[in-house]
Amino acid sequence: MSAAPLSTTTDVLVVGGGPSGLALAAELAARRLSVRIVAPHPPRPFAPTYGAWLDELPTWAQPCTAQVWTDVRVYTGPQPTPLMRPYALLDNTRLLDTLLERAGGRLHWTQDRVTGAAQRDGRWHVQGEAGEDWTARLVVDASGHGGLLCPTCFGGGAALQTAYGIVAHFQRPPSPPGAMVWMDYRAAHLDRAEVRTEPTFLYAMHLDGDRYFVQETSLIARPAPSRDFMAARLYARLQALGTPPHNTESDEWVAFPMNAPAPAPGGVLAFGAAAGLVHPISGFQVAGALNDAPRVAEAVAVTLRRGEDAAAAGWDALWPPERRAAREVHLLDLGALLELPGDRLGEFFAAFFRLPAADWHAFLAPQTGVRRLARSMLRVFAHAPSAVRLPLVRAALKHPGVSLQALREAARMKEPDRLSHPTAAPAGHPGAMTQSDDTRREANSGDIDQQEVIEEGMQGATGNVDADGLAPNVDRQKKLEELRENIAEISGEGR
Ligand SMILES: Cc1cc2nc3c(=O)[nH]c(=O)nc-3n(C[C@H](O)[C@H](O)[C@H](O)COP(=O)(O)OP(=O)(O)OC[C@H]3O[C@@H](n4cnc5c(N)ncnc54)[C@H](O)[C@@H]3O)c2cc1C
Repeated sequence: MSAAPLSTTTDVLVVGGGPSGLALAAELAARRLSVRIVAPHPPRPFAPTYGAWLDELPTWAQPCTAQVWTDVRVYTGPQPTPLMRPYALLDNTRLLDTLLERAGGRLHWTQDRVTGAAQRDGRWHVQGEAGEDWTARLVVDASGHGGLLCPTCFGGGAALQTAYGIVAHFQRPPSPPGAMVWMDYRAAHLDRAEVRTEPTFLYAMHLDGDRYFVQETSLIARPAPSRDFMAARLYARLQALGTPPHNTESDEWVAFPMNAPAPAPGGVLAFGAAAGLVHPISGFQVAGALNDAPRVAEAVAVTLRRGEDAAAAGWDALWPPERRAAREVHLLDLGALLELPGDRLGEFFAAFFRLPAADWHAFLAPQTGVRRLARSMLRVFAHAPSAVRLPLVRAALKHPGVSLQALREAARMKEPDRLSHPTAAPAGHPGAMTQSDDTRREANSGDIDQQEVIEEGMQGATGNVDADGLAPNVDRQKKLEELRENIAEISGEGR
């Protein structure tokens, strides 16, 4: 990072020194742009406990992990479901240092608080708390959830993920030694009504020796439970397990919105949580931002050099149409989860994790194309028990405009060529179906019965079908109407 004085004008000014702002600033600086980060604090390791699927971290970030678990499980009932997917706890100090290194000493950090920004004479003027006026050709809002310069508008109000966690020592293990528990929905210590209204689960990591990170988490709720409530839930769980903590080293309160829509592009570019990039089902964002940063930086660098609209290019790179359409599908699912009775969430996730690994990975991934996502969503519906499926479908149908629009968008969406030109199935494959690369990979991996999934997901299409489970000459519009009627029928809405 540069300590040299910098003219008040830079190519880019990034508001915020969290992982997203710094990741983008580093990539911009690495492309030889002058970059100023303004944040109310000096460069410092990020405070939250960040976890990520190891395979979602870019290769350069994989050494920035404090610990990686291969024994990763969920409990949606008495028995664990192994996830067979390594999960990492990030080493925030190493991540910070690596990002600063990637900036190659061309980043200028100004400790201050931004209060506003306005465009005059083709330049952005950014105001600091003490009356500073910095100018830049492009401003990036990476100020975190809600956004300072690009405020997020949460439809129906913000729906929050909340959690209360501690790092502590335990005489008896509160979760399996050597393991990471991504989700434990067992709650024998609560009565059903409590679970129904306030569903929470345990997220736990064995750190070393008798040290564990244990966190009671509410996946998503509106209104959200309070910190006191979540802390009480955690201690009640540990008490019931007979594993009270001793020597608590630290605690953490987590609360952030999950239901950001795809933002409208504007003159200021947003990035990270401020750009609505928190995953609406998992709440993850960090790995996605590390992956998005080079692409967005490249688009910005190229357009700035040409004297073109860098904000527009950045928005296009960050939120291409497929991602916008995918967000609609995710928000539809989030709406359904919000309305699912809490005591059914365990069953929902049991069905979710019974999906082929490639499917649930794709569902939780930040960049999954809309058709793939819509298909995965249909598969979750198909695999869920009716006690879960009916409330989900009813919830979806409460917002018919949104859901139909999302499904239609999903089915119409043009995805990259490899999806629109399916190749022939390998000889001897049952039904001689044509498949996309994605579905062929799944089929080849042996963890998916393609025909069965398509039949379940698309209400009975069989034989020679494409990647959506539709026969080549089918009238898509008609098929969607049929799907709607089927959903209405099983939900009771059609009667
Ligand atoms: C406690 C917690 C745990 C989380 N755990 C995970 C996890 O395990 N995995 C995961 O992927 N995601 C997780 N998330 C979600 C999300 O990834 C994080 O919130 C992440 O920090 C968002 O990164 P960001 O850089 O976009 O925003 P932030 O990290 O919120 O950074 C915002 C930056 O903007 C600065 N800022 C704010 N206002 C101003 C201003 N007026 N002027 C200048 N600077 C300003 C802040 O000081 C900060 O530097 C978690 C969130 C929380 C709150």
